[in-house]
Amino acid sequence: MFKDTCGVGDSTGNTDIYPEWQTYPEETAPSTGYPDPFACPCCSNVFSRTLQRAKIDLLEHAKKLQRAAPQSNFPTLIHNANIITMNPENPSASSMLVKDGKIFWLGDETDQPEILPDDVKILDLEKRTVLPGFIEPHMHLLPLAMLQNYENISPFLYPSVALALDRLKELSTEDSREWIVARQFDPSLQEGPEFITRDMLDEVSGSNPVFVFNASLHLAYCNSRALEIAQITTQTEDPPGAEIGRDETGEPNGVLKGGAAIALVSRFNPALHNQNMAESCLTVLADANAKGITTMCDQGTGMMQGRKELALYKELRNSNRMTARFRYSLAHNVPFSWSATGISWGDGDEWVRAVGKKIVSDGSNQGRTGLQREAFLNTDSFGIAYIEPEALNLAVEEQLREGWAVVVHANGDAAIDRVLHAFGRARTLGLDPAERRCRIEHCSILHDEHIEKISALGLSPSFLIGHVHYWGKAFVEELFGLEKAEKLDRTAACEAAGIRWTLHSDDPVTEMGPLRCVENAVTRSMWRTEKILAPDERIPVEVALRAMTIDAAWQCHSEHEVGSLEAGKYADFVVLDADPLKVASNKISDIAVNQTWVNGKRVFNRAAA
Ligand SMILES: [Zn+2]
Ligand SMILES: [Zn+2]
Repeated sequence: MFKDTCGVGDSTGNTDIYPEWQTYPEETAPSTGYPDPFACPCCSNVFSRTLQRAKIDLLEHAKKLQRAAPQSNFPTLIHNANIITMNPENPSASSMLVKDGKIFWLGDETDQPEILPDDVKILDLEKRTVLPGFIEPHMHLLPLAMLQNYENISPFLYPSVALALDRLKELSTEDSREWIVARQFDPSLQEGPEFITRDMLDEVSGSNPVFVFNASLHLAYCNSRALEIAQITTQTEDPPGAEIGRDETGEPNGVLKGGAAIALVSRFNPALHNQNMAESCLTVLADANAKGITTMCDQGTGMMQGRKELALYKELRNSNRMTARFRYSLAHNVPFSWSATGISWGDGDEWVRAVGKKIVSDGSNQGRTGLQREAFLNTDSFGIAYIEPEALNLAVEEQLREGWAVVVHANGDAAIDRVLHAFGRARTLGLDPAERRCRIEHCSILHDEHIEKISALGLSPSFLIGHVHYWGKAFVEELFGLEKAEKLDRTAACEAAGIRWTLHSDDPVTEMGPLRCVENAVTRSMWRTEKILAPDERIPVEVALRAMTIDAAWQCHSEHEVGSLEAGKYADFVVLDADPLKVASNKISDIAVNQTWVNGKRVFNRAAA
């Protein structure tokens, strides 16, 4: 059962764990070549800073979460369906009996059990396709909970800065107390100026405060009204490790660099104070259900408010209101010891479970902070190591000794060199990374010798496949050149080497969307060009589906209960309007999710949405 490991109120009664550790020493900042010295969306400190400045306590929010009575569901017989089980021993079926939250029976119509439960509901799926519920192995729950109400002005919706700002203009209201807040602004992909200033945002609204998060979450921009509310003037000093942007005269220009500067303004956003973060987490789960997701894994628990996040997870579990299963990896770089909380690998139950320890080894390639063997094109910048080799070696060793699956974020090829060295070293000490299914996250730039080592060490990569589609053109033309860019997300080479790997969104880096991830991996198409990035790395649809179902379940230590459709596993499945194996590969992401079921209960129904 769910072991109480939330660590709330430790022996000293100290629950005041606010992370304060993420200011990188000046000398590690790369010397040249890009506008954002803070860029790494995976480990932004903006959330912890904002909560801290706004005096928001996740524990208080968790305590206020409304609970529901535990629900019992009617047995359901699904029939007339095209069921793809992802179980190689029994790959297809047309009918399935769901009872007590689990798959009771699965097979062909003609073999249906003779005696059905009295209260069974019969559901004719009219030949629709049924797959195991999709599993998102890498996302960030609390950051998404915080961002979800903000307007998405990403380049993929608004290709230019002007169009994005026009959209914000439409949101201005008569009520000047209302803030206009937007996210996913990315001037590296949006045509127009490199950054937006208070003057440009004053055009959006002179009376409403306007606040825009850069997609990297290490920069934000605001208008004069927001600066006024935050009482930021020429005299205001920069907070440590952050910067208030200024024009030539020293006047704040509305650009905020680094979490501590962003939080000076964002803390006044009333939406932040009217929102219950635990409720918002449930909304994130519901939004994921609409994409066909039934299990997701957070990769950075503790980054926002330390141990209080575990208390929040526990309340989510106890609320009986979760509509998806949840797994998580604890952040390694927190200023306190997780082991003092008594938590260990595998704690939890089928709804919420601790499955990993997460180490971040470098930045992001698109932010030019991924650690490289060679400098980024036209710069002398090699990226940033977020942990030094010796510390990485020891961290990997220590986590393995404690029995954790170690999950290491590594984007650049030099970062992957170091991570492989750390795992290799652990193995010479008698610690087997394969036994705990240790992962390399993003694992973006892979040379052939990397793949050999990953295979030899039994490691498992998870690819942020949106890199290929959304940033592929930038990787080829601006960051790496074609030869190196072709080493990005080498799914087919890993498949050929017998390595088990998965796909992920890293939401909020790219939006959760399993069918979109499948399409990206199958086509390797690139946004704003007809070209295909490394066509040899394309994989068949069935392989991509495996990566988003049973293999992701395996990476999240949950394949014994979810990830394929077989009797005895939980009835977590998705109903699609078309069969991804039968539509054109560039139409896979257009397939509509018709229904999503978790634990034998329908949690999303498009007809009702
Ligand atoms: Zn990451
Ligand atoms: Zn991440």
